Amino acid sequence: MKKRKMPLRKCVGCGEQKPKRELIRIVRSPEGEVSLDRTGKAPGRGAYICDQEACLLRAIKTNAIQRALQVELSQEQVKILLERLSNES
Ligand SMILES: [Zn+2]
Repeated sequence: MKKRKMPLRKCVGCGEQKPKRELIRIVRSPEGEVSLDRTGKAPGRGAYICDQEACLLRAIKTNAIQRALQVELSQEQVKILLERLSNES
């Protein structure tokens, strides 16, 4: 079987390059809503993180998500993202 080359994306939390499908896309919709996009197809500006709470927390703490998505994250939004990550994985 021929292996297709996986596109690599960088996790905004730990900075590691990983195959796109191992990462979760965080997307900012055109309306400015930030959510987790597990399909990778949602419209808007996206950033990638590992499927791990540690990476999400780190990315929030270092403002990497905010920088990548050019958005401010409220405490409420951070909470929602963390909840979605732990519920859906
Ligand atoms: Zn990571």
